[in-house]
Amino acid sequence: MTEIIIVFNSGSTSVKFAAYAIGEAKTLNLMSHGEIEGLQSDPRFTAKDPSGKTLGVNAFPRGREIEHRTALHYIVTWLEQNLADAKVVGAGHRIVLGGARYEAPVRIDHDVLAYLDTLVAMEPSHQPYNVAGARALADAFPGLPQVGCFDTSFHRTMPELAQTYALPKDVLDTGARHWGYHGISYDYISRQIPKFAPLARRVIAAHLGGGASMCAMLDAKSVETTMGFGAVTGLPMATRSGDIPQDLLFYLLRAKLFDDQSLEKMLYERSGLLGLSGLSGDMRELQVSDDPRAAQAIAYFVYAMTKVVGAYTSVLGGLDALVFTAGIGENSAPARAGLCRALGWLGVVLDETANQGNGPRISTPDSQVSVWVIPTDEELMIAQHTLALIRP
Ligand code: ADP
Repeated sequence: MTEIIIVFNSGSTSVKFAAYAIGEAKTLNLMSHGEIEGLQSDPRFTAKDPSGKTLGVNAFPRGREIEHRTALHYIVTWLEQNLADAKVVGAGHRIVLGGARYEAPVRIDHDVLAYLDTLVAMEPSHQPYNVAGARALADAFPGLPQVGCFDTSFHRTMPELAQTYALPKDVLDTGARHWGYHGISYDYISRQIPKFAPLARRVIAAHLGGGASMCAMLDAKSVETTMGFGAVTGLPMATRSGDIPQDLLFYLLRAKLFDDQSLEKMLYERSGLLGLSGLSGDMRELQVSDDPRAAQAIAYFVYAMTKVVGAYTSVLGGLDALVFTAGIGENSAPARAGLCRALGWLGVVLDETANQGNGPRISTPDSQVSVWVIPTDEELMIAQHTLALIRP
């Protein structure tokens, strides 16, 4: 029998999964990954092997919505029937917000789910669906051990000063906190850095995907990060604005140009690289565009990162290494080059050839700060935490 850990990322319109076989000495070997997308309209299941070869597809009846429970049940059953001799023995869920209670991954039970429900209003774009996925699996397979891994947990090591805001106590007591996100990715990266730069103590990592953030780490622990209370703050992203002044929001509301819902939608879905360029939120498209607005959007993205590195180098008292990860970080030579060139004052010297080849080391040997491209693997991180909790 092959024991399997499944990792789920349940979103509003899709459920993504990755299935790992537990091997000798608790190693985890990826067997399959895939998703059911189009949950509300045109649900389609796809499973691939680690090389990307399709293992299975299935279209559900068109125009008929399926619930998370049906989707998760289908995935578990499909894996048990289609991977040789497979038995699913545990599931790990990506959950963005663990709040003040969960500073580490946790075994999921009804009490945990009830607490996570209370956080939904703080982060409505991912949290309700992440929690719905965990609840649906618990309903469908009550005996299956489940673990929640939280994007906010990694940042709970930030000093109290970095976690708070200059707001009255009664407001802070409602849960207003600098939570920070992308923590599962930073957790993984923090464990990879010693393999590349064993002496680096003061590190800035940049998770640059559809969502983008940066994290200052001291001795592999988060001390600052750009995403704050929700996932729209900090760096500009594909379609999210990043930081903008509060007084602008008051103006837009006061002038009745937006209400709270349309304002939130605009900041999440029509801003960032898409808003700036008017063309696309996808870095690949911006890089090949001749339109000057595309170049300006990339320049703004690089400028925002440059400001953060300045601030975080100060917070860390210097900088030993800079790490790029996620879709843009791992693949966009121009974005990385833009930032590295702006950091000449720090002694960063870019190795142009290595940068074109996506690393791993993209700084020259005499660069005073080493610069790296390290692919992230959030699913593997969740699978490792899940295994550690269900097989202590
Ligand atoms: P998500 O945050 O949705 O998980 P990813 O980490 O996969 O996304 O990052 C997606 C982004 O990565 C895309 O929006 C695209 O801009 C960028 N990207 C992917 N491949 C490349 C590439 N070859 N060059 C530049 N950017 C890329």
